[in-house]
Amino acid sequence: MRLSPIVTLNDVSFKYEREWVVKNVRLSIEPGQFLGLVGPNGSGKSTLIKLMLGLLKPDKGTIQLFGKPMKDFKDWKEIGFVSQKANSFNSGFPASVLEVVQSGLVSRIGTLRFFNRHHKAKAMEALRLVEMEEFAQSTIGELSGGQQQRVFIARALVSDPKLLILDEPTVGVDKKHVADFYELLRKLNDEQGITLLMVTHDIGTITEHATHVVCMNKSIHYHGASEDYKEFSDEELNSLYGHPVHKLTHNHEYDGVEHL
Ligand code: ADP
Repeated sequence: MRLSPIVTLNDVSFKYEREWVVKNVRLSIEPGQFLGLVGPNGSGKSTLIKLMLGLLKPDKGTIQLFGKPMKDFKDWKEIGFVSQKANSFNSGFPASVLEVVQSGLVSRIGTLRFFNRHHKAKAMEALRLVEMEEFAQSTIGELSGGQQQRVFIARALVSDPKLLILDEPTVGVDKKHVADFYELLRKLNDEQGITLLMVTHDIGTITEHATHVVCMNKSIHYHGASEDYKEFSDEELNSLYGHPVHKLTHNHEYDGVEHL
């Protein structure tokens, strides 16, 4: 039996005010994929994620989650989200790493008033997955940006989601730890079977790690396997986009449709 796509967007369009920010987006995320979502600043990536999370409603089109129309979908613990600003706690913030991870259970359960042994065990298991269990009692603000990011991934993993959405997770991660960070994401995808959707500027690196890539600028310009994307010559990209573009190599920022 074929599993339903995890997310399906059917011709989704959205505008905050007058201008369309997301235009006619058709996209399916299949179980097991590691999808990199790239596009210039202001191209609608974060808005698309908010639409998938039900935080915004499409003006046109429909969204299905795990095969169900958005309005009938209730199982939000199946989707973990790590937002862009997650890893910017200052050093005085009075919460331990364990408390931060356990708070991932509170937001799902809502009425939870105290944590029992089971909750602590779940949080420790999530910290083990991101290789941060030895920091369980540390204060969150004492950790580096990259370590905090791992803790926030653990917080998102504590409810055993099938889909993990990450918005620019490498921002604030020290350059020398970015490779380890991708390694962690690969492990979650390969070994834990978690489907990943990651927004990033870094198209050079994401095509090395993700299974699939989506390039958007309001509408989708490319969606396909990373391997196929890497094979495109400049001429093929020109015809794909209808005007001259240059494919970026490693460690370049994807800063516009002219520089794909
Ligand atoms: P990206 O994540 O690709 O940088 P965004 O989805 O954040 O793009 O933004 C897409 C466009 O929508 C931008 O022009 C941005 O200024 C605009 N925008 C984003 N959030 C809001 C908002 N809350 N109200 C009005 N316009 C917004």
